Amino acid sequence: MVFIHHIPSLVPKIFSKLIWHKDRDKPKVYLTFDDGPVPGITDFVLDELGKREMRATFFMVGDNIRKHPDLARRVVEGGHSVGNHTQHHVKGFSLSSQDYLQDVARCQSQFQEIIGISPGIFRPPYGQLTNGQLKSLLPDFQIYMWDVLSGDFDKQQSAEVCLAKTKKYTQNGSIIVFHDQQKTKEIVQEVLSPFLDYLVLMEFETAIL
Ligand SMILES: [Zn+2]
Repeated sequence: MVFIHHIPSLVPKIFSKLIWHKDRDKPKVYLTFDDGPVPGITDFVLDELGKREMRATFFMVGDNIRKHPDLARRVVEGGHSVGNHTQHHVKGFSLSSQDYLQDVARCQSQFQEIIGISPGIFRPPYGQLTNGQLKSLLPDFQIYMWDVLSGDFDKQQSAEVCLAKTKKYTQNGSIIVFHDQQKTKEIVQEVLSPFLDYLVLMEFETAIL
């Protein structure tokens, strides 16, 4: 499987309505965790962040909020930020704008019902979004992509390589993607703690989106 850890600098210029990173002049980074909440991994992530008093942003799947409401509430109670990641983790390129927006709206209702909030931030699953979908979402959401992909989902990649590359590409203002889901559980459990220690060592502050 081929994927890019680091977004080439041209990409943000093309998709300028999407947010790929934050201020490059301040030593802050933005940890993000996609696809949860999932027991056994989201709680692990919360514990590791808590030990270091760090904050992160969780782009949640509505159906997982429904299945694990207490864990979803624990994320918010921990002072972390939450974003919409659709109800069923749908692919933008496979759905009409109408169907896609309906799935986003269902996730938003799930947030409202379980946690009592309506997130103002969104991340498209698989990074897939058509122009039409983008235009419809922009009035309601800030859309966050990333500039550092940990590649935690890549089974061909060892934990050592995942850690080394994620460290290498992290810089001021980076938006870093990990996943708190079943498939990435093992590698995240291996990589997250040393990566967070690295952020402390390098004097990066963690902030929420
Ligand atoms: Zn996802």
